[in-house]
Amino acid sequence: MRLNSASMALALAGCISVAQNSTTASVPPDSGNADVMDSISNLVDDEIPEQFDWQQNFPSWYAAVEPYQIMGTGKKGIYFVGTEGLGMFFIPTSAGHIVIDGGMPGEGQYVADAIRKLGFDPKNVKILLNSHAHLDHSGGLAELKALTGAQLIASEGDRSALEGGFYLGSEDDSAMNAPPVEVDRTIADGETVTLGDVTLTAHITPGHSRGCTSWTMPVVQGEEIYQALVFCSATVAANRLVGSPQYEGIVDDYRKTFAMTRDWKPDIFLTNHPEFSGMANKRERQKAGDPLAFVDREGFPAMMAKLEQAFEAALQKQVLKYNAIMAD
Ligand SMILES: [Zn+2]
Repeated sequence: MRLNSASMALALAGCISVAQNSTTASVPPDSGNADVMDSISNLVDDEIPEQFDWQQNFPSWYAAVEPYQIMGTGKKGIYFVGTEGLGMFFIPTSAGHIVIDGGMPGEGQYVADAIRKLGFDPKNVKILLNSHAHLDHSGGLAELKALTGAQLIASEGDRSALEGGFYLGSEDDSAMNAPPVEVDRTIADGETVTLGDVTLTAHITPGHSRGCTSWTMPVVQGEEIYQALVFCSATVAANRLVGSPQYEGIVDDYRKTFAMTRDWKPDIFLTNHPEFSGMANKRERQKAGDPLAFVDREGFPAMMAKLEQAFEAALQKQVLKYNAIMAD
């Protein structure tokens, strides 16, 4: 059994519903998880179309959003330059700028335009970072690199997928491909990236991808320093956990990530799918006059608790399915 791009995509959609529910107290905790698992298991046995139209299936990933400053002082801090369904982030510094993630293939230009709208020159982007090497977050990096001339810094675990332009463990699934992009420097867990007056710390939170990288940085606003987290992801999506796993050690990696993040309580919690951290609501509250709308110390632990539950349920289901197939 293997999952291909269409099942992967619909499973991703299911995962989004987990996150959407994560801050809604009235939703039973398991309802989102059930959606995810249903969408995966139903599709595994389905006829899969050969071509997958991402835009038709995920219109929000392509829907433009006016870029904005999430938090910061003056022209410092962290900005949103993504789409409705994809979080891309812009960080200006005194010595050029940093961008985290490039969106879908073809969205490099969108990110550059968003940076220009904010009053900055995309040509001053010096460093590109990536949350993980899946096409919805890395697909636009090659174009963005060509437009800006920036260097790409990424984890060793995701380097082969970025440079090969594939989804690790699904190399022959062309619908999951992304334009290959060269990694100029690799970064390990706990290492930092400094440009001008800004330093980001890399946290390797593997599982969702082998080199899944979360980024933290301090953001100054008013008299306070806030710790911002751009979290990679910990959904299972359609990753194969058993049999021939997506990559060797994937189950241990997920569990390591859940253990490692258990006591994380960032002040500002940001995600590469904005729904995961309720960014649209926070943005509305900000526009209505709340300068601290993005301060959310409960959101991250709440999401991780749900994702861990979803992971264990997915693992159990995949094990049962695998055993049933092997017994046939
Ligand atoms: Zn992903």
